[in-house]
Amino acid sequence: MTGLKNLPSISIIDDGSASNGAAAMPRAGDRDAGGGGGESAESKLIIVGSGPAGLTAAIYAARANLEPIVIAGYAPGGQLMITSDVENYPGFPEGVQGPELMALFRQQAERFGTRFVDLDVDRVDFGQRPFRLWAGDVEYRAESVVVATGASALWLGLENETRLRGRGVSACATCDGFFFKNRKVAVVGGGDTALEEATFLTKFADEVLLLHRRDSFRGSKIMQDRALAHPKIRVRWNTEVLDVLGENSVDGLKLRDTVSGEETVEAAQGLFIAIGYKPNTDLFRDWLDLDGQGYLVVRDETGSKIDGVFIAGDVHDHRYRQAITAAGDGCRAAIDAERWLEAQGITESATASAW
Ligand SMILES: Cc1cc2nc3c(=O)[nH]c(=O)nc-3n(C[C@H](O)[C@H](O)[C@H](O)COP(=O)(O)OP(=O)(O)OC[C@H]3O[C@@H](n4cnc5c(N)ncnc54)[C@H](O)[C@@H]3O)c2cc1C
Repeated sequence: MTGLKNLPSISIIDDGSASNGAAAMPRAGDRDAGGGGGESAESKLIIVGSGPAGLTAAIYAARANLEPIVIAGYAPGGQLMITSDVENYPGFPEGVQGPELMALFRQQAERFGTRFVDLDVDRVDFGQRPFRLWAGDVEYRAESVVVATGASALWLGLENETRLRGRGVSACATCDGFFFKNRKVAVVGGGDTALEEATFLTKFADEVLLLHRRDSFRGSKIMQDRALAHPKIRVRWNTEVLDVLGENSVDGLKLRDTVSGEETVEAAQGLFIAIGYKPNTDLFRDWLDLDGQGYLVVRDETGSKIDGVFIAGDVHDHRYRQAITAAGDGCRAAIDAERWLEAQGITESATASAW
């Protein structure tokens, strides 16, 4: 596995020379003519987030002359920046490194004039149009917004877990299970995700050790029955991971029995953390609907309860959680945003070639 690559460097907002011919946008440093006293910038479309969903939305929106601004987040590129080999993204028969894939997405979005701001949005006001978003010291205004802030996998927080991510430690069995053919792997967690990941991993691994801190699972009965009955799955109840062992790749786990306190070492070549995801939705809590797990709720494909605010990717999707599905969502959200802007009379009809 290689180290993370830097994404291409970008300026807060460019000088408009890369635009597609529409009116030049104010720079982020321009004084706010609206009298707020701060700095501001405007766009027909602002995309929040720069994972596969946000960057695909940007490619589509830029090609439709929407001159999008992507507020990319302080961790541009999203979840794929912390993974190494991506072998299931179409178009890369030999696989591609996650950071490299995201750099290519970004270059493609930049090529059509997308402007990037590598900051987090700190606050939004979707109360009226133009919608207002704040990042750093700048207020951004947009007629439409695509929210693509993704979700963050939860980790145990162990130093060696971080060090060995992509070298045996993963948070995605669908993505990385294939690398563990005929190996012994462990899954940490006790909910449906952990049970599902453990069952999925039996397709590849010789043995799947399911480690759970408590003495019963939280997951659904059917998933429990399936996992408990599987001959390749061995459950260790009341067990927590103290450390991940291995120099360049995982070769074992240091475990503790939470009842007796006994510490043991188990050999394993893979560790899948399945203790949940946190959707990055706090920012939108006052404005958009959230489901019971904190994910955004979509209406009518990519819409939200606020006209002009669209949703794409893992920020609403806790079912598929894949780069390709997030990218597909970004495409759909950009097309929906463009059609919505057109219906409002804010843009002219996109030409067929724009898509
Ligand atoms: C370890 C791991 C390995 C994986 N491997 C694969 C794989 O091999 N193949 C595959 O298809 N999928 C894989 N996935 C899943 C895939 O990465 C996700 O499904 C995909 O990245 C989701 O894309 P997204 O654009 O919806 O969100 P994300 O990739 O999560 O991107 C969200 C973006 O929003 C930004 N953001 C968040 N909050 C704010 C804010 N307040 N302001 C501005 N920006 C913000 C973040 O910085 C980030 O740029 C893997 C995931 C993990 C964790």
